[in-house]
Amino acid sequence: MKVYSVSRFERSGGPLCDKCVELDKKIERYREVSSSLADQITIDRIKTLIDELQTQKVELHPEQKPSL
Ligand SMILES: [Zn+2]
Repeated sequence: MKVYSVSRFERSGGPLCDKCVELDKKIERYREVSSSLADQITIDRIKTLIDELQTQKVELHPEQKPSL
């Protein structure tokens, strides 16, 4: 059973292409911003945005969707 490429992708949190790199950068920026906030409503909004970006990332590589 070869899970090699999937686990590598997961472990690195991994940039596979320019679009993924861009999405990762955005996600990271959102996380930094949200961790510096005390306003729960804004934090929740940012979490929703992060979710959307992660969904976009999965959709870019549907065949590499990590199987959990
Ligand atoms: Zn990609």
